[in-house]
Formats: sequence, C-alpha cells, structure tokens
Amino acid sequence: MRIFDTLSGERKELKQPKKFGIFPKPLNLFVCGPTVYDHPHIGNARTFVFFDMFVKYLRSQGFKIFYLQNITNVDDKIIQRAIDEKTTWDTIAKRYEASFMDYNRRLGITSVDTFARSTEFIPQVIAQVKTLIKKGHAYMIDGDGWYFDLKTFPGYGKLSRRTMEQAETSAEQGTSRVDNSNQKRNAGDFCLWKFTKVASNESQVASNAEPSWETDLGAGRPGWHIEDTATTEHFFGPQYDIHGGALDLKFPHHEAELTQQEAASGKSPFVNFWMHAGFLTVSGAKMSKSTGNFITIDDLLKKMSADEFRMMLFMHHYRQPLDFSEQTIKMAKDALHYFRVRIQSVKNNAKDESIEKEFQEAMDDDFNTPLAIATLRKSNDIGLIIKGFESIGININPKIPANVLQLVQKRELSRASKQFAQSDALRMQIEQLGYVVEDTPAGPLVLLAENPKFEIRNPK
Ligand code: AMP
Repeated sequence: MRIFDTLSGERKELKQPKKFGIFPKPLNLFVCGPTVYDHPHIGNARTFVFFDMFVKYLRSQGFKIFYLQNITNVDDKIIQRAIDEKTTWDTIAKRYEASFMDYNRRLGITSVDTFARSTEFIPQVIAQVKTLIKKGHAYMIDGDGWYFDLKTFPGYGKLSRRTMEQAETSAEQGTSRVDNSNQKRNAGDFCLWKFTKVASNESQVASNAEPSWETDLGAGRPGWHIEDTATTEHFFGPQYDIHGGALDLKFPHHEAELTQQEAASGKSPFVNFWMHAGFLTVSGAKMSKSTGNFITIDDLLKKMSADEFRMMLFMHHYRQPLDFSEQTIKMAKDALHYFRVRIQSVKNNAKDESIEKEFQEAMDDDFNTPLAIATLRKSNDIGLIIKGFESIGININPKIPANVLQLVQKRELSRASKQFAQSDALRMQIEQLGYVVEDTPAGPLVLLAENPKFEIRNPK
C-alpha cells in the first residue's frame, strides 16, 4: 500500500505497525474535523467522505486503524455568529455539531472511532503552551495572547515549502485563518493562547459569545492550531502515523501544528504521512462558505443518493480538484446504474482473480479509485463487484423491501399472461414506494427511483 505524503513529496509504503504483545498496534489517524459555526457543505463532505473510504478500505484489507477526528467548537467564526444571534458560543457550537453528526449519518460516514471537542482538552492545551514557553519558543503580547516565535524553529516551512518570510503572504488562495497582530516578532508567528477580549461588564452579548478559561497563562482560549496537537498528543503521544485534511489546511494550519509539536517534544517526524485531499470546486472555484459559492448537503441529497455522491467522488482521484457540475453528477449516476444493472443481469458469473488483483493494485497505488472502478467494469464476477464497492463504502446492491419484490413478481405474472392494464397498475404502485422496474433481457431490474433536479448556483 503506497500513499502520497505531502512532506516528502513521494509515495511511501504504508505498513501496519508491529504487534503490541498479542494485540496488533493500530495505525493512528487524525483528520481535522469541522469548525461548528454553520452547516457543512458538500466541499467539506468530500474530505470527510474520502477519509471514511480510506479507513473502510484499509480495514477491509486487514489493517487495524484508530480514526480520531476533532471538532473545533472554539473559534472566531463561532463567536461572531453568537454575537450576531445574541446567544452563547455554546448554543451555536452544539447546534452545528448536531447538524454535522446528522449529515455524517446521512452520508454513511461511520468509520470515526472518536470525536474530540476542543473544549474538552483545555488542560492539555495549557500544558503544551507552557512547555513551549519553558523551551523559549513562545512570547506574550500584552492584551493579545501567547505567540509562537518562528525564529526559534529552523524547520518551519518544510511541509508547505515556504520560508518564514513567505509565511507573510498568506492572502493567496489555498490558505486560511492567519493570526494578525502588528506586535508580532515575525509576520508568520501564530497565536497559541488568545486572551479574553471582552471584560464581563462591557457587553453581556459579547461576553456570552466568547468562551474563556481562567488560567495562569491569563484568561483566554486556545489558538486554532494548538487544540489539534494537544488533542493528538493526548491520544497518540507526540508522534503518530497519518494526519489528514483538505489542501487548504496545509498552510498555515498543518505547518503550525508540525512546528509547535516538534518544538514542544523535540521529536521528529511529528507524523509519518501527511495526506491532503483536493478541493471540490464549482466552475473551477473552491467551494466555500465565505464566498457564498456552496451547495448544502440537503440540496445534494435531493439530487443524488449518498451512494451516487460517493461514486462521483471516487470517479476522481482524491488529490485532484473535482468540479461539481450536472455532467459529473450524470456520470456518477450512470456509473452506479450501470453496475446495478450489471450485477442483476450478468449471465456467466465466474470468479475473476486477475481483475481482483488489478482492483487492489489500483487501490494500493495511492487510492487510485477511478482506475479501480474502471477495472470493475470489465468483471463478470458479481461477488467481486459487490465486494469491491463495499470496500470503498458504496452499496451497489441495496436491499429491495419484500413488499416491493412481491409487487415486481406479481407484475411479471400479469405481463406473462398479457394483462397489461394490471401490470401498469402494479408498476405505478412500485413507483409510489420509491422504486422503478426496468425490463431487461435478463428479467426485471428493480432500482431506487431518481430524485428531482435542482439548480447549481455558479459563483459570480
Ligand atoms: P472547516 O469547517 O472550514 O474547518 O472545514 C472542514 C474540512 O473541510 C477541512 O478539512 C477543510 O479542509 C475541508 N474543506 C473545506 N472546503 C473544502 C472544499 N471546497 N473541498 C474539499 N474540502 C474542503
């Protein structure tokens, strides 16, 4: 199994760690989860569905893997939303965490072992900031917070291939959330601990909106990057196997994580594999909340099923951009339909070991799902087709309810005895239950009915 690692710029062999006594030691995976200030969009979903598939496939190959994902429930955007709605940060965070969990369920994301909320790791954050202060990596700006001093870590920039000076030019595409202060020692220094801005008597709304912890670092809250390393150090220690996220997180977020964790522990490498998934785009532009160029998961699921969405994602390589359009949707629907017809109509079902090998080789080559799926098109082995898709989390053999199957059988009998009015009536009953029947030379094929259309909004 070879996986592309952003840090080395190469495909590296992924191996299961040696046994730990009689138990296999799991591969530890951490993926940056959502910031819960709004409903997730289908760009976020691309990343989370990809890592769900990644874990499911590895598990199907016998790997033991522990999948940890954090939930950022302390953040400027959450505070802003709480101010706008005149409510507490906690109300906002809980509302959108529930929404995120609900969409996970609807998208079939089931592989995460533990979700970790930032607010549950405050003691670990404080301990890590104190270690950085003790080792001379952090300094305080009055009334602002504790910052990491980039000059103290020569390895800065190795992940995103930037120099410290280039850390300033953060307004470019593909980066997100940089800490601003004109008193920083170096332009790229990032905040570890943010002091509470609002005195409690100043404004009740603002004070409710901003979470704050009284600590000997000063009253405040964690910076964005430190919550992740504090959490992963708690679960995995200072070094672990795989860190994932989408491409926008490479800089400054992952660069900062690497910097602070290696500086705190003195151990390198922080992680063995850095995996970065490509963006979901619309007309070539990154799908994103802030530009208004996004599609909600609700709208998506009116248009296509979760299985069709997965098919669409995996018909593209995970590191490539994927442009969401009527055409990509249609290709995915057609492909899923093709395979569903195929498993119900193949005549000479036979075991096909060479194609199974080709499928695995494609998957093992940095998750080349488009090639793996294309390979299955050549197969007459129904079991292999079903199992192959199952290993990437796509169900191409959905269970048709017994009452629908009974109607299908009845319809066949009416057709055989040329009672076409009755067979038409039965077809309508089947459609009312959300299924359609196609008459193929191999017999009746039962499929889930199509969903209604909706328009994709293009960016201005
Ligand atoms: P956020 O809630 O903004 O922190 O994002 C949650 C996750 O979705 C992160 O891993 C982001 O990198 C990822 N993400 C955001 N926008 C996109 C996009 N257009 N395509 C793919 N992944 C994205």
